[in-house]
Order: sequence, then structure tokens, then C-alpha cells
Amino acid sequence: MTKTVALIPGEEAAPEAFEPTVALLDHLRLGLEWVRPPVGNSAQETHGSTFPKQAREMIDAADTTFFGATSGASAPALFYLRWGKLTYANVRPARYFRGAKSPLAKPDGIDFVIVRENLEDLYTFAEGDLEQLAPANLMSGTWRRPLHELAPGRFAVKVITEAGSERIVRFAFELARQRREDGCPGRVACGTKHNMLPRSDALFRDIALRVAEEYDDIPFESYFIDDLAHRLVATPHAFDVVVMPNLYGDILSDAAAALIGGLGLAASGCYGENYAYFESAHGTAPDIEGQGIINPTAMILSAAMMLGYLELPEAGCALVDAVTAVYAEGKALTRDQGGSASTEAFCAAVAERL
Ligand code: ATP
Repeated sequence: MTKTVALIPGEEAAPEAFEPTVALLDHLRLGLEWVRPPVGNSAQETHGSTFPKQAREMIDAADTTFFGATSGASAPALFYLRWGKLTYANVRPARYFRGAKSPLAKPDGIDFVIVRENLEDLYTFAEGDLEQLAPANLMSGTWRRPLHELAPGRFAVKVITEAGSERIVRFAFELARQRREDGCPGRVACGTKHNMLPRSDALFRDIALRVAEEYDDIPFESYFIDDLAHRLVATPHAFDVVVMPNLYGDILSDAAAALIGGLGLAASGCYGENYAYFESAHGTAPDIEGQGIINPTAMILSAAMMLGYLELPEAGCALVDAVTAVYAEGKALTRDQGGSASTEAFCAAVAERL
């Protein structure tokens, strides 16, 4: 049966990486059907909304969505893809391609995946003025005073649920098992700040420890998140699957991207029970918009993850192999990698390898 992919290019420089990636997928002749939901500024003009009902219906009807990056106009679609479709697991691989510009002396062999909880933590957008906390008389354990007495100021709510923690940790263990089948070590590490957050982060960690007992074939380590940040940089080769709450995962996955050559290589996929969407981990790179120099590798590797999800793993591997070859050859690398190739030239090199 023909698989349908909803395409949302996003804003600023994002489409400059997105469209050539779609062209590469066309080049593979996979029989995928593209649909383009009306989203963002153009949808505002044609449909009177940046995320009209028609767009939501097209996303729902598609097998998956491929997304560029947004600086705002396409954000309602992105929020729908995440909280509307409950894509709770954000998978962000940090794999080094020989030839990429890593700041490390020996980056060869770095190959770990950050599994970031994608719906909870501080991403509830439940913020407010401290005065609002007066009715609850919420005490600060450190200040030993009701928080509203610290006003004026603001607060944000961090939410860690039992169900949300359990499903993301299980996802991480299942991924570790899958990766072990593919020749990776098959290990899980967890990062939390359970000493300073003995109820919220400690809950996430306790659940991870409990789930780890069920997966006794998969080695498990729990770290303080600050220690884990240090270890990921100092000994990145020691890691395989690394699971953590939302905000830590957001921050550390950018740090992990730096190890392997920067945001231009940072792929990402967001998986739920019934839906998944794929986007690069980087933003819209507004500072290089219109120059045709954005590195499309992150987009291409995200597309490869999407092909795996669409049960076209050979095509996904072909894309990754082509990218590997282009980096190894080093002749068509973009500026962020120390080369001088345009986005178009990089994609042409990948297409040639395909
Ligand atoms: P967001 O908050 O949406 O993640 P951001 O503010 O972190 O976005 P990015 O768009 O990710 O910003 O860009 C950060 C820096 O990295 C910019 O200088 C940008 O040009 C650069 N950058 C990001 N992605 C790429 C890419 N694919 N190729 C080259 N440079 C990139």
C-alpha cells in the first residue's frame, strides 16, 4: 500500500535543507505519496489560519509527517504533532561520521542515542506570577517560606508523571535491545537531578530503576544529570542509549551534536503509540537564510529514520551509507564542516552516491 507523508518545510533557512532532502527521497523512487498541509504564513493567507482544520486532517490521514523547523508560523502544527499526537519519545542520535568537524581528538566510533521524554517536565507551558501561588501557600523546601512571599517574580511548573516516565524508560530499553541486534552494545544510562528534586526527578529515576530490573539483559546506570553531561563529553564512546526528562534531553542533545560535528548533523524523530514525525534537531538557522549553505545532513538523517519507521529500512540505510561516503570523501562538505560546498552541491554528492 502506498505510504503517505505530510510535508511541512517550516521557516527561514529550514526549507533550504528540507526541499533538497525531499528531492533525494524522490530520487530513491520509493513510491511515497507527498501531501503538503496548508501550514504557516502561506496558510494564513489562503485559509485565514497558520494551522487550519484541513492541515490537521492531512496530518491525521498521513502515515507520518516530515517537518523542517519552525521559528513560529508553523509552531501550531508542531505542537499538534507533539501534544496532539502524543509523540512522547524524542530520539536524537549522536553518531560520528568520519570527516565531520568534531572538536574531539578521537571522535571515531561515537554512536549513542539520546531518548528524551517529549511531552512533560517543564514543557507544560504552565507558568505564572508568584502571587498566583498564594492560595496554595506552596512552601519552598530551601527558602522555608511560602513561594508567593518571594514576589514579584515568576514560576514554571515541572511535571513528571508515573505513566510518562515508565513509557519513555521502556522505550529506551526496547531501543537498546533493538540496537544490540544491530551490533551496538545495548546499554541504557539515565540522567536526573534526583538529589535536588527528590520527588519529581527521583520519581523518574525510581521508575527507571524498577523497569531496569525487568530488562535484566540490558546493563543500566543511573547518573546525576550534571555528572552525565560531563561524561557524555569526556567519554562519549561509553554510551549507547541515554534516557532523560524533557529539558535535560533538549539541552544535552545539542551538546551531543557538538561532539559529532554540530547541529548540521543532528537528526531527530518523535515517536508515539500511533504516530511519529521526523525533523532535524536544529532550529531555522535564521542567520544563514537565503544563502544556500545550510547543512542538510540532519534533515537527510532524519529522513533516513523516517524510512525506517515506514518499513523501508534498506532505503534508510542507503541514505546513511551515501552520507557516510560523502563525509569520508570530504570533497562536498558544507561550510559548518570546514568545506565550501553549497547545500545543493552536498545533496548532489549524496544523490551520486545513491
Ligand atoms: P531552536 O531554538 O529552534 O532550536 P536555535 O535558536 O537553537 O533554534 P538554530 O537554528 O538551531 O538556533 O541555529 C543555531 C546556530 O547553528 C546558528 O548559527 C545556525 O546558523 C547554526 N545551524 C543550525 N543548523 C544548521 C545547519 N543545518 N547547517 C549549518 N548551520 C546550522
